Amino acid sequence: MLTRRGFLQFVVGGALGAVFSPLPWRIADELVLFSQRWTPQGAPGDESWCYSICQLCPGGCGLKVRKISERVVQVEANPLSPINRGVCPLGAASVQYLYGDKRRIKKPLKRTGKRGEGKWQEIEWAEALNLLTSKLNDLKGSGATEGLLCIDGSVSKVMSGLLKKFCYAYGTSNYFHVNADVGASIAIKEMQDFNGCVGFDLENADYVLSFGSQLLEGWGAPGNLQALYNYWFENPLKPKVKVVQIEPRMSDTAAKASEWLPNLPGTEALVALGLAWVILKEGKYNPRFTGDADFERFKRAVLEGFNPDKLEEKTGLCKDDFIRVAREFCNAKHPIAVWGRGKGFNSTGAFEVLAIHSLNALVGNINRKGGTAFFKDVVDEVWPEISTRQPRDLGKFIESVGAKKVYAEIALVCEANPAYKYPVSFGNALQNVPFVVTFTPFMNDTALVSDLVLPTPFYMEKWEAITTPRGFSYPVFGLSCPVCKSSYGVKHPGDVVLAVSKTLGLKGLPWDNYRNLLQYLVEKIWSKGKGCLLKGNKKVALPSSPRQMWSELTTCVWANPEAVSGGIKKFDFAPSVFAEGIKRPVWSVEGKSEDYPFTLIPCEYLILPQDLGAAPFLVKQLPDTVLKGSDLCVEVHPETASQCGVKNGELALLQTPLGQARVRVFCNECIRPGIIGIPVGLGHKGYDEYLAGKGINAYTILGYNEEATGVASYVMNKANLVKI
Ligand code: SF4
Repeated sequence: MLTRRGFLQFVVGGALGAVFSPLPWRIADELVLFSQRWTPQGAPGDESWCYSICQLCPGGCGLKVRKISERVVQVEANPLSPINRGVCPLGAASVQYLYGDKRRIKKPLKRTGKRGEGKWQEIEWAEALNLLTSKLNDLKGSGATEGLLCIDGSVSKVMSGLLKKFCYAYGTSNYFHVNADVGASIAIKEMQDFNGCVGFDLENADYVLSFGSQLLEGWGAPGNLQALYNYWFENPLKPKVKVVQIEPRMSDTAAKASEWLPNLPGTEALVALGLAWVILKEGKYNPRFTGDADFERFKRAVLEGFNPDKLEEKTGLCKDDFIRVAREFCNAKHPIAVWGRGKGFNSTGAFEVLAIHSLNALVGNINRKGGTAFFKDVVDEVWPEISTRQPRDLGKFIESVGAKKVYAEIALVCEANPAYKYPVSFGNALQNVPFVVTFTPFMNDTALVSDLVLPTPFYMEKWEAITTPRGFSYPVFGLSCPVCKSSYGVKHPGDVVLAVSKTLGLKGLPWDNYRNLLQYLVEKIWSKGKGCLLKGNKKVALPSSPRQMWSELTTCVWANPEAVSGGIKKFDFAPSVFAEGIKRPVWSVEGKSEDYPFTLIPCEYLILPQDLGAAPFLVKQLPDTVLKGSDLCVEVHPETASQCGVKNGELALLQTPLGQARVRVFCNECIRPGIIGIPVGLGHKGYDEYLAGKGINAYTILGYNEEATGVASYVMNKANLVKI
């Protein structure tokens, strides 16, 4: 058995590159077995297997589902899926989510008591649809259609596209996706005048510079990255790729990387520009994007302001590391720099992305093998009428609603949990939004404070299209069909949106139901004649009819690995965000440094999803260094603990300019002194007794703005720790 001491030796060894093993995924495998046995089994019956696609994160893992009679009892990886080779613990918990009777919503619910009081009346769907339609009709009749706010958390771009079309037809521009990376989209628009999918061809990279992206803990398409890590490091002494992890705390990803550079939090942009300084100074850049006046401006600014000599104190990294890593990066054949801290669900600052992506441009590795990939998703290609507006900042918009600077009469929340992700601002906004409707399979934090809750099917109970997984380097499209009948009174949110559109007489939404819309899109993809079917690693030509294509797509996926073309229209090294960013400190937060001498950062774990509450067995698996009883534990270096006068395991008050919380202290040498790590994914109010009230919601006290752009992110704050 691996002892704690052994574990520390193991991770340190991992950091030194001497030992490598995908430990988190091995633990994950054990959890998978555990979860499948944990779930109560049904009565004996005939065994059958069918295919599905997991939708618990945007990873798009293909599944094989085992059933006994009509009851789902187990999930495994679909061997025909090109995306994943295994199933993560969250995916394995699908069976618990599906049959989680205490958290599933059985019928539409109408609020009867005060908001959040938990008093509901179960109503029939006809009444629920009537209520929703009449509210929307009244608002439309008043001419104030911008008063409709749509908050989307759908994993499928088809469902998101339908909601965007609905908003457009209704007359509101207030559509937001909870996981939109606003900062990255500003940066990419400015640098490349591009608005579409950004992928990372990690499969073909040989040097990965990760700026805090937790590649093994839920970033990108986790099922795909698990397979990739095994491939990269199958021979630990001769890895196929060098992974350099830049982050202040030794996450599992940092522990398994070839090298860990523990920078100070929030200095990712400075680290990237310090590396750029070395590349520019030594003239090692690729001529592909360089040579024009804009590049010369960038070069001048970087050489003037980002000498690693001056960055040592600011970033916590030493000059020699800057020089060595920069040289290795530009000498590699297929180097890639990756952004999106943690699991990548929080917006990255635009200046930060700009600084990191300039490294990809300096080595010329954009739209090339092993580099960053820019392409249009297939849904946008075949359904071009979907608005291609850049994503906007939901956090800021909700704040404005709370401050009565903008008006929202109806909030339509679809498969999202903004009351968890934006606990303070959403709470304030609620006071000014008279009618909140939530589409969700579970009684989550947002459903609790809604006026109408509409139960939706769990992914195993519905038709859905799975589009390009997050961070994937080419477009993908697959179908997930229902594998079992729901025992609850649920309706597909797509069917509800289409039915409501029809009653309101909205134009441009002609489909009778969501399945018809999927059929329409499959026909369009087939008729374009591009791409192929991917069955595992095998490329297969498109079938001879759309009907056949529909049936094939329920077991494998359509893909177009050639979608990324070599040429890009433009590349600006020094657009306005860069010019602004270099003038100021990177990030800003209220509060004096004397009052808050430490920096708070989130700790993200593979087994702890964020706004989707963890399944009961996942909560059970949390070590008591994360959750002890109902107390949340924060991670600090022993030096920091002694500076605050607290000991390992003691209670303390964690204070930030946004609020305070009672926490337990977990001393760990694998975090930089002066940093406090807070686990994300606990502190839910909704769900069931296995989760509600356990720990605290880190988002109540995390949060900062990027100075140059004002982009809000939730990956840092100033903090203090006080002995109780
Ligand atoms: S990585 Fe995401 S999509 Fe894959 S099994 Fe896990 S939760 Fe499901």
